[in-house]
Amino acid sequence: MNNFLDMPALDTVQPCIADPTRIRFISLLDMDISPVLPYLNAVVKGAIYNRHGHTLTVRREGRIVTLHPNKIAGAKIRDRDDAMSILSEMVDLINDCHERMDEIEPDYERRASLGVLDIYKLLPGTNCRRCGEATCLAFAAKLAKEAAGIAQCPVIYTADFQEKRKLLSLMLTDAGYSVPEFT
Ligand code: SF4
Repeated sequence: MNNFLDMPALDTVQPCIADPTRIRFISLLDMDISPVLPYLNAVVKGAIYNRHGHTLTVRREGRIVTLHPNKIAGAKIRDRDDAMSILSEMVDLINDCHERMDEIEPDYERRASLGVLDIYKLLPGTNCRRCGEATCLAFAAKLAKEAAGIAQCPVIYTADFQEKRKLLSLMLTDAGYSVPEFT
């Protein structure tokens, strides 16, 4: 039987934002794997599914892999060999789930969400209202509910808040939230 998904190439490899001794990668897919994600969510222990963003995040011994509809992204990966190994594991998982979709009950629930205060601590704290909210705390509450995106805070994109931005985007990515790639 033909596989649903063939092994993709490593399209982008860069130093990891959070840990420069590690790498991150992106592998583009020539197909949409989003229909399989709720099935993976049902069988992969500890996976974080984002129904609205159509992503599924899986952690493996400190490495983070996020499955998007048309790409697989890895962060905190040891090296290229490690990237290929974890990519191969993900492709096998996707193909196995796709083959067993008739037997698996899909799970559309997110099993992890971030606390408002954890997000707030990484926002600039200026209460400047440029995001449209009266305070950074109100914006944090919207981010936690995915009713807003980090890109709506222009202040965090200034040089003074570069470190906080990196940590916040990593925290959001880890929890399966959608984060713009330019962060
Ligand atoms: S734009 Fe950023 S810094 Fe300003 S209030 Fe909103 S979250 Fe806070």
